[in-house]
Amino acid sequence: MATVENLISHYREQLESSPLDLAVDWKKQHPDKKLVGCYPVYTPFELIHAAGMVPVGVIGAGNRLEIAHADSRFQSFICSIVKSTLELGLTERLKFLDGMVFHSICDPARNLGSVFKRNFPDLMVEYIHFPQNMTSAHTVEYLISEYKRLCESYERLSGAKITDDALRKSIALYNEQRRLIRELYAIRKETPQNLSTVECYVLTRVGTLLPPDEHIAILREALPELHRRNEKPKDRIKVVLEGSFCEQPPIELLDGLESAGCYILDDDILIGWRWFPEDISMDGDPLRHIADAYLNHSVYSGVKHDTREPKSKHLIDKFKDTGADAVLILAAKFCEPALFDYALYKRALEKEGIPHLCLEFEEKMWIFDKARTEVETFVESMLFD
Ligand code: SF4
Repeated sequence: MATVENLISHYREQLESSPLDLAVDWKKQHPDKKLVGCYPVYTPFELIHAAGMVPVGVIGAGNRLEIAHADSRFQSFICSIVKSTLELGLTERLKFLDGMVFHSICDPARNLGSVFKRNFPDLMVEYIHFPQNMTSAHTVEYLISEYKRLCESYERLSGAKITDDALRKSIALYNEQRRLIRELYAIRKETPQNLSTVECYVLTRVGTLLPPDEHIAILREALPELHRRNEKPKDRIKVVLEGSFCEQPPIELLDGLESAGCYILDDDILIGWRWFPEDISMDGDPLRHIADAYLNHSVYSGVKHDTREPKSKHLIDKFKDTGADAVLILAAKFCEPALFDYALYKRALEKEGIPHLCLEFEEKMWIFDKARTEVETFVESMLFD
């Protein structure tokens, strides 16, 4: 039987060489199934799944794809994930998909949706207009109507009707997937010496590329072994990592942050796959519950526009709740939502006297020495203060 270490190293290798290959291979084994690519951060996967299709996270191309064509469609000062995602399309690496979904996280992502629509006429390209006003009495009705429009589009693509029962079954599956990911995160928060961030990331990221039932099986295999681990804690500082909600840091960079002397207790990586801290209700109207979950029961992020509570308060609450010693902001280069937030976070963290460090990364990074040295210096300044 494979140990959890073998399982993780098997998937890590695939994710580092070509992240989408897992989904491509799955499609080869299930040629009749339709797959819909989901650009981060947040997609209601249940709607796609209830139409009998498989949502697949298209979260950039990592650092192994040369950008040769996408540069001509976008300006140079833009985040890497936008260009690498377009490059995947222009080099026919997204041919295995039947559709792509984008949504209103930022201007580059909005433009990417339009560029996809123009360049790939055979692909269903959808765009979700999430509400910018979370406090209006009409917001929930608006979001339900937006989801109904999406459902019609998915029904046309799949040829299947999205029934309430099918939605409830999909909610149940994704609830279970999110519950198991929460369990994984809880292990790392309570005993970070027993689960590294890279392991946690690999086990979560695999779930963006496979159907939820297959990911659930992987997590059910891994979790009991992870619970049995009993490693001795190292002399490291404990941090909360913030700012990597969309473009993904290279796995080697995450490795480097920890070996530079940090235990990462919580992060916002892949937040769209673990958006809800509680189960979505399955009673009554499922579409209303999915809409309500986004509006009222989802965690904050740099791209959820919600003025009811400042994001800096959420970050400070997370810092206090985890018992961390510091905050590490890890933002993608040219990511306006993350870097605008940093200005607000910095002021709030300074006011609270919380040590923090801000680093920028790109998914296409190959060299991590500078980031590692900065973190080592930061860690030493705290350990030997
Ligand atoms: S990395 Fe930032 S700027 Fe780029 S698409 Fe994502 S949210 Fe937008």
